[in-house]
Amino acid sequence: MYEKRERPTVKQKKLLYTGKAKSVYHTDVKGTLIVEFRDDITAFDGGRKDTLKNKGSYNAGVSAFFFSRLEKNGVKTHFLEMLDGNRMAVRELSMIPLEVIVRNLAAGSIVRNYPFREGMALKPPVIVIDYKDDSRHDPMLNDDLIVALKLATPAELRKIKAIALKINTILSTLLAKQGITLVDFKLEFGRQGKTIYLGDEISMDSMRLWDKKTGESLDKDVYRFNKGDVMTTYNRVAARITNKAKPTASKKKAAAPKTASKRTR
Ligand code: 5GP
Repeated sequence: MYEKRERPTVKQKKLLYTGKAKSVYHTDVKGTLIVEFRDDITAFDGGRKDTLKNKGSYNAGVSAFFFSRLEKNGVKTHFLEMLDGNRMAVRELSMIPLEVIVRNLAAGSIVRNYPFREGMALKPPVIVIDYKDDSRHDPMLNDDLIVALKLATPAELRKIKAIALKINTILSTLLAKQGITLVDFKLEFGRQGKTIYLGDEISMDSMRLWDKKTGESLDKDVYRFNKGDVMTTYNRVAARITNKAKPTASKKKAAAPKTASKRTR
């Protein structure tokens, strides 16, 4: 998706951290890290794992695209540049162990855990914040717990929520133009000094996306629930998001989107 640079501006050094689908490396430049998007895919707390060729580059390309668009709209992100198809140079942050989830339609865990009907519109959007800790299965937090655990100050929490909602507006608008509904997505933030930056990734692994016309899943739910060939989905949706695909038929006909509640799963 991104052309390899002739002379990368940073050199990769020692491994700093390996996650389920990404690895983070030190570099020769102080304050700059490299995030490598690997071809690994996992679900159910790592209970299911596979390695799928090109998966890393699709997620890296989509993340880079979103980070650039967010920066243009005044959202501070860790993104500096793509070094090749899978590797991104990023600003080094002190990460805050929170998973900030913005939900526009009810799906996934909130349908399992609360009496929401799948596809029900959540207006205004619902922000759910989980504690990022695999050993505890990422339990849901509330504002008091976040402050008591000293994960963020009340002012930082207000800021994080405001940024998350701004990102939601920007991404929902962008995706709607490609005939895609942004159902929900997960963000992670970090600090550099007192400034809060968006970190991690925004990709098909961390968003729930539904085709406005067909209701089809265009994200990791395809893998989680065996809804089809996940790499075909990622390939197509990455091209669609980054606008490399031809306009969809729905665009030409400007068909009214089906309501999410009619979505067949
Ligand atoms: P849910 O709580 O319904 O499982 O997830 C809500 C949204 O956040 C989905 O778009 C899901 O992909 C994303 N999400 C939740 N937890 C994680 C996580 O640990 N890793 C990633 N990559 N995404 C997550």
